[in-house]
Amino acid sequence: MKLVVLGAGESGVGTAILANKKGYEVFVSDMGQIQDKYVQALEAHQIDWEECGHTAGRILDADEVVKSPGIPDTAPMVQTLLEHGIPVLSEIEFAARYTKGHCVCITGSNGKTTTTRLIHYIFTRAGLNAGLAGNIGRSFAWQVADDDKEWYILELSSFQLDNMFGFRAAIAVLMNITPDHLDRYDYDFQHYADSKMRIIQNQDKRHCLIYWAGDPVIQRELKKREGDYRAPAPTPTSHSAVPGHPNLIGFTDDVFSQLRLTFSQMGRHNQRNATAAYLACRASGISDDIIRECLEDFPGVEHRLERVGEWDDILWINDSKATNVDACLVALQAMDRPTVLIVGGKDKGNDYSVLFDIIQEKCRGLVFLGADNRKLHDSFDALGLPIADTHNMADCVSACRGFAEEGDAVLLSPCCASFDLFKNMEDRGEQFRALVKAGQ
Ligand code: ADP
Repeated sequence: MKLVVLGAGESGVGTAILANKKGYEVFVSDMGQIQDKYVQALEAHQIDWEECGHTAGRILDADEVVKSPGIPDTAPMVQTLLEHGIPVLSEIEFAARYTKGHCVCITGSNGKTTTTRLIHYIFTRAGLNAGLAGNIGRSFAWQVADDDKEWYILELSSFQLDNMFGFRAAIAVLMNITPDHLDRYDYDFQHYADSKMRIIQNQDKRHCLIYWAGDPVIQRELKKREGDYRAPAPTPTSHSAVPGHPNLIGFTDDVFSQLRLTFSQMGRHNQRNATAAYLACRASGISDDIIRECLEDFPGVEHRLERVGEWDDILWINDSKATNVDACLVALQAMDRPTVLIVGGKDKGNDYSVLFDIIQEKCRGLVFLGADNRKLHDSFDALGLPIADTHNMADCVSACRGFAEEGDAVLLSPCCASFDLFKNMEDRGEQFRALVKAGQ
């Protein structure tokens, strides 16, 4: 069998190594330059590779292709493969064939990483042999190849789900579905929602779905898919949301207090993440005591409402990961002080109007941070708040200092991707953190 891997990043190289081990003839092709560490890994396994372009002849010779989630279906090479009827899979689909490990899969527009890390934190503390993968850390395929686990806690993006067909999650967690990445979905929200709903594909009575029942989109999409479940009659303990399916566990915001949970991280959205993690861990048999302990001491995740520090009674918060409007909305909802809000970056088709009320209510001023801030001006100027226009982090932080008063918070929660001015969202958050600390 011939396998071609498109994209030689963490997931692609992991896939190549796993496929090589399983006896495939493997060829790796990347449009760009491959990082040294990945070249070394390919060479060490004697895997054939190319960079800075695709040799169509070799790629079209494949029985199957695994593509990196970063490559859109509209990429010419992918289009050609689809025209030739060659299956294009995601790394997760491929790697799942070669492990007996149970997969706990987390998706949603927001809250994936926090919930995934929290579940993994709890699994590890409970003494279970669990790998953390998907959008995070070492690739799933690489772990299956080198150090297979009994459990995998997988953060899945819609791009990964798009190329998953036979895969099924033992425990699926669906946090929410709000507009994001619409540029990859023909600006059609339904396409994006369908992609997220693939998290339940192939599930039956042995599996379960935990989801936030406060999300009307999830409710609507589940209703449409009622018939897809091959499920037995409900049991007395079921929290069935779709009739006949005992393992559909929809939770509302009340469940956090009903269960008397406490969580180390701020904000109602984090209570949802904690509730989802609690239910997923209970569904996998972990004891109530351990889960509660872990919720109380979970250290949080960088760049997600991360408290950088408080000086002169001004609290600085790095939420660089908030790359869409909904993430910024929940961050503002978690704020209990007047807030100077930093927004801007590479816009993914945002509609900012959902933020207007809360900005009027909570914000002292707005600082724009982007290569091109025109859309921000068009959207926010009419609110009549003080506004600063900046194009680098140093100017941005000094503009925030100018606006913030004692007792305020400064919140970097930009609604946008970072690629216009920064390498990535981590770079944006780290520059913010460093400049804030340097000025104290
Ligand atoms: P993801 O991996 O899905 O991007 P993260 O856990 O990294 O999610 O959180 C990203 C941002 O989304 C956070 O900074 C926060 O503002 C927001 N967020 C986190 N959890 C939720 C949630 N359950 N609902 C809505 N927004 C959330």
